[in-house]
Amino acid sequence: MPRRWFDRGRVVGGRAAARVGVRPWPGDTPTMRGMESGSDCLFCRIVAGEIPATVVRETDTTLAFRDINPQAPVHVLVIPKEHHADVVTLAQANPALAGEVLGTAAAVAESEGLRADGFRLIFNTGPYGGQEVFHAHAHVLGGEPLGPMRAR
Ligand code: AMP
Ligand code: ZN
Repeated sequence: MPRRWFDRGRVVGGRAAARVGVRPWPGDTPTMRGMESGSDCLFCRIVAGEIPATVVRETDTTLAFRDINPQAPVHVLVIPKEHHADVVTLAQANPALAGEVLGTAAAVAESEGLRADGFRLIFNTGPYGGQEVFHAHAHVLGGEPLGPMRAR
């Protein structure tokens, strides 16, 4: 009996879908993207070394790498190596790991020279928060005045 796209309640896409001969999930909503992990998740693939990234810091449990589309002179993403869809599920499932993400973000701010002038730490969460990658991540932004928190 071949595996099907709904096996184990997670989306099978890309190479996994090709292997089992199914099409990807038809309704690619943020909710469903939130269920991605492993080979379906971009940041899990960076952790696995399958997709290259410019790593600036690594611990046993976290990884920090430069954003591919920087919005400021310094723009680093800090992620837990373990997959959690967003910061809320991360904090609920593993509060110690959430603290380690914060610690790595602080260390990145120091090593990137952002401590003196300040910086911004953002967790975009869900559709209203503009989250695009559903693996929890903090944005560390700095290197110039960042302006008001929201464009109005
Ligand atoms: P968010 O909108 O908060 O989910 O942020 C996702 C971020 O991931 C965006 O700022 C993207 O530019 C960034 N991003 C997407 N793909 C990559 C990649 N392969 N390497 C580094 N950053 C990426
Ligand atoms: Zn992931």
